[in-house]
Amino acid sequence: MVGASLAGLSAARSLRKQGFDGRLVVIGDELHRPYDRPPLSKEFLAGTLGEAELALEAQDEDLGAEWLLGARATGLDHARRAVRLADGREVRADGFVIATGAAARALPGSAGLAGVHTLRTLDDARALRDELARGGRLVVIGAGFVGAEVASTAYALGIDVTVVEAAPTPLAGPLGETMGAVVSALHTDHGVRLVCGVGVKGLSGEERVDAVLLEDGRSIPADIVVVGVGARPNVEWLEGSGIALDNGVKCGADGRTSLAGVVAVGDCANWYDPRAGHHRRVEHWTGARERPDAAVAALLAGGAVEPGVPRPPYFWSDQYGVRIQFAGHAAGADSVTVEAGSADGRDVLAVYRRAGDPVAVLGMNQPRLFMRWRKQLAATAS
Ligand SMILES: Cc1cc2nc3c(=O)[nH]c(=O)nc-3n(C[C@H](O)[C@H](O)[C@H](O)COP(=O)(O)OP(=O)(O)OC[C@H]3O[C@@H](n4cnc5c(N)ncnc54)[C@H](O)[C@@H]3O)c2cc1C
Repeated sequence: MVGASLAGLSAARSLRKQGFDGRLVVIGDELHRPYDRPPLSKEFLAGTLGEAELALEAQDEDLGAEWLLGARATGLDHARRAVRLADGREVRADGFVIATGAAARALPGSAGLAGVHTLRTLDDARALRDELARGGRLVVIGAGFVGAEVASTAYALGIDVTVVEAAPTPLAGPLGETMGAVVSALHTDHGVRLVCGVGVKGLSGEERVDAVLLEDGRSIPADIVVVGVGARPNVEWLEGSGIALDNGVKCGADGRTSLAGVVAVGDCANWYDPRAGHHRRVEHWTGARERPDAAVAALLAGGAVEPGVPRPPYFWSDQYGVRIQFAGHAAGADSVTVEAGSADGRDVLAVYRRAGDPVAVLGMNQPRLFMRWRKQLAATAS
């Protein structure tokens, strides 16, 4: 198992649950045991959840695995059935699960400038939390979900926040134009400045950042900058291994890769979606948690298994006290209708349809109705 986080741990659990009783080695480059990432931009950053509460393993959980933590995989030698580690060690195995997740994209030219943060790991979150505690003006670059959550948490901590987004409408990709605008209006509802439709040219400052420079010539003063411009799959270490890579590890509908005895799960894996007829890489907690079951079944079977129809992808986000939930795919919908609540009231339940069939559902503070629609969506999909 390469990658010791949610997808890796879930795969290890699936292996034991499905009867694998052989040697199991989990390799992870972080020093921490598996921890939960969603709270890093929410309760942990706000200081209301401690590190111990991030643990993904139960206290008495014992998977009988060997954990090689602080160990970075640098290559996969498929012919020799071996994973090479940065410290020169080698781990040989009959089967491999790739679960190396994704890394936050950096802003070119920002390396080494104090006050500039990305947020992917516990160490990132510790550093940002300490900095927010000192106060100041925060500029968040990118109004995607992680950026928006950081803005919301910092706002609640009493920090002056500006969010800058290159697209004219934030979240238009995942939610569509109409609902992207409704959700991102949460920023302005709370007096957080939202600057859209303009790119970032760079950052200014000698040793420490002091402003974000926009392409239209404006300069936004900043003491702290959070770069939230998405993530890229951690697959560089697989280059040259012969495995098919395409926006992550290219997989079939059951997680099998182009190499026999190798499956990939979680944020690094670009699974084939039989419903859509193309591959999709999904960066959501629930996919990293649920999909390893199918991948492990295929690994243990040593060949194709009937993966069943996967549930439509689902994610949630918490911003300004509003729980946002989304399931399905907004792209390709030809209509969006409000089924309950209202966009203005920020308590909307909206259904996306294509040719009359529901393809996605969005809820803002509508957890019960949302779950009902999510079930219906899954039933329609299957
Ligand atoms: C701040 C934040 C908030 C989020 N909030 C939400 C949310 O509200 N809702 C939601 O649905 N999703 C959310 N997510 C996404 C969710 O956390 C991810 O989908 C999930 O963590 C993916 O799990 P994973 O195991 O595939 O990858 P990761 O969690 O990225 O874990 C991969 C692990 O592999 C390690 N690794 C990488 N390369 C190597 C290597 N070469 N050798 C050894 N180890 C390696 C990494 O260091 C890491 O520990 C959030 C993510 C972040 C960062």
